[in-house]
Amino acid sequence: MKAIAVHPGTPGSIHLEDVREPSLNDIPDGRGVLVKVLRVGVDGTDKEINAAEYGAAPPGDDFLIIGHESLGRVVDVGPSVPDTIRPGTYVVASVRRPDSSPYGEIGLQDFTTEDVYYERGINLLHGFLTEYYVEDSDFVFPLPESLRGVGVLLEPTSIAQKGINSAYEIQRRLKIWQPRRAAILGSGTIGLLMALTARLRGLELTVFSLPQKPYRNADLIEELGGTYVSSAEKSLAETSAERGPFDLIMDATGFSPLVWEAAEVLGKNGVLVLSSITGGDRKAEINSDKINQSFVLGNKVMVGTVNASPADFRSGVNDLIEAEALFPRWLRKLLTTPIQGLENYEQMMRALTEDRDAIKVYVEVAGNDT
Ligand code: BGC
Ligand code: ZN
Repeated sequence: MKAIAVHPGTPGSIHLEDVREPSLNDIPDGRGVLVKVLRVGVDGTDKEINAAEYGAAPPGDDFLIIGHESLGRVVDVGPSVPDTIRPGTYVVASVRRPDSSPYGEIGLQDFTTEDVYYERGINLLHGFLTEYYVEDSDFVFPLPESLRGVGVLLEPTSIAQKGINSAYEIQRRLKIWQPRRAAILGSGTIGLLMALTARLRGLELTVFSLPQKPYRNADLIEELGGTYVSSAEKSLAETSAERGPFDLIMDATGFSPLVWEAAEVLGKNGVLVLSSITGGDRKAEINSDKINQSFVLGNKVMVGTVNASPADFRSGVNDLIEAEALFPRWLRKLLTTPIQGLENYEQMMRALTEDRDAIKVYVEVAGNDT
């Protein structure tokens, strides 16, 4: 069967690879789920992997099948798979797999303390940009049929969920935390999904990002009832004076200096969530004393978040269902850029690297299969 792969370490090596079809027997103890891939989304991580800045092939292979944002339909299951997953069920697989750290033993491999982590489509494990995959049912999440059209957004949604779920978990220290105002920094796919998640938690929403209106992503924020602010027109400090103080700030800009401005304006008892994987070595001059003092006197928290736990996938499914009910058609507007078929991998990479207007680029792997 066909798969989109790269040779990690070789820039621009994206190609079509012919690989063996997986089988239920590849997974021990009858826990296998064999899945036909329907759609796979791509993001900045895939771009970096093809640029040879990130990612590694599984031991013994000189190629890595990429793609970690999947949507598929179950073809067959082993005898020990729970009956919430049956042939025909729509499913999304999670990305990270347990390693030797104790967090994996309790299903929280997203909190691994190991330097080497195992992520399907990213690091040391093959991904989903192929025709079929097989996976342990522990790492496969069922979706209702009503999410067939937007379910490919579950993996990026799970990233936003982990960020916000972490914030609420941390804020249990405050016993009566009642957040009112959220600021999301960045209006790419993750920023938009964070904005949605914050809105579904009932928060006043401000999204702060570079582009100026008219801007389609600003319209999407306004459709959620949020306010969009361009950093070309206002600083974050001015935005906070008008719309804050913010109880929750989540960054998904990829521009690390902004994080220190966010730290300065975060409200008392607030939490600042960082999610951008900034691979460069940018430096910034910061108001060190001011930030430190306000964190101390204001009991503030800054926390990093990566990947997602099973609970984040489950709350993500619920939020997608709620989003479809409250903001009908909003999610599908994020699916801007379909690519037809695995063989169009070059077009996929071009859209990912060059199409400034794209929100989500994704591959229709199985045509219009339902
Ligand atoms: C993926 C995460 C992953 C992270 C780090 C992101 O693009 O969505 O699942 O943990 O990259 O590799
Ligand atoms: Zn990703």
